[in-house]
Amino acid sequence: METNDELNKQVAEKIMGIDLSKICEGDLGEYYDGWMCFACGKSGSWGEIDEYWNHTIHPRGYSDNIADAWKVINKLQEFGFLVDIFDDGCAWSVTFVHMDDLDTKYTADWRQSIPAQICEAALKAFEGGKEHYAEAQPQSV
Ligand SMILES: [Zn+2]
Repeated sequence: METNDELNKQVAEKIMGIDLSKICEGDLGEYYDGWMCFACGKSGSWGEIDEYWNHTIHPRGYSDNIADAWKVINKLQEFGFLVDIFDDGCAWSVTFVHMDDLDTKYTADWRQSIPAQICEAALKAFEGGKEHYAEAQPQSV
């Protein structure tokens, strides 16, 4: 089983398409009625503050908290995967399947938190399901 740090890095680079060697470390500044990154010039409105954090904080805690883990689910959905998060009464399980191949299931070890299971299953699915989406990889970040 991987540590969460390793999982977070793998998810960032393999699934989210983030080059961790090129992460901006700029500070946030006021720019007209919005914000701007002083290092790279990226700007936005205060309503889109997530975009600022998204470009400076990496890897996010995908395997640590459900809000970031959900971004991984959303990304897998863009690639055509369906997710099943199931509670059998004893333990949760997280399984991804690709809509072009509903027989192949990618399931994570259940002895982990749900966010960590989402990450582990997502990595398995992303690697294992490549044939179905290799032509259609969306651009990210
Ligand atoms: Zn920046």
